[in-house]
Amino acid sequence: MANKDAKHKSNVAGSWYCTDPDDENGEGCIACNVCYSGAPDFFAEDEDGNAYIKKQPESDEDKELCQEQLDACPVNSIGTDG
Ligand code: SF4
Repeated sequence: MANKDAKHKSNVAGSWYCTDPDDENGEGCIACNVCYSGAPDFFAEDEDGNAYIKKQPESDEDKELCQEQLDACPVNSIGTDG
């Protein structure tokens, strides 16, 4: 489970989030580009290439797409509270 205490400051409000690269658990984003390449409607990159949620998924199909990015993230840096 991604560290909900280390959310990237640019995530839009909602249950899905990316974690900050400074996450002290060592699971912060490493700017690998998997999520914002795989689901660019929902994930974006900041000026350092680190990911944040730019739009929350609402439909089951969109949540499934985001879940695929969560599963593919190599450092456990994507989470969801919902
Ligand atoms: S898949 Fe994970 S490590 Fe890669 S850019 Fe997205 S949040 Fe960062």
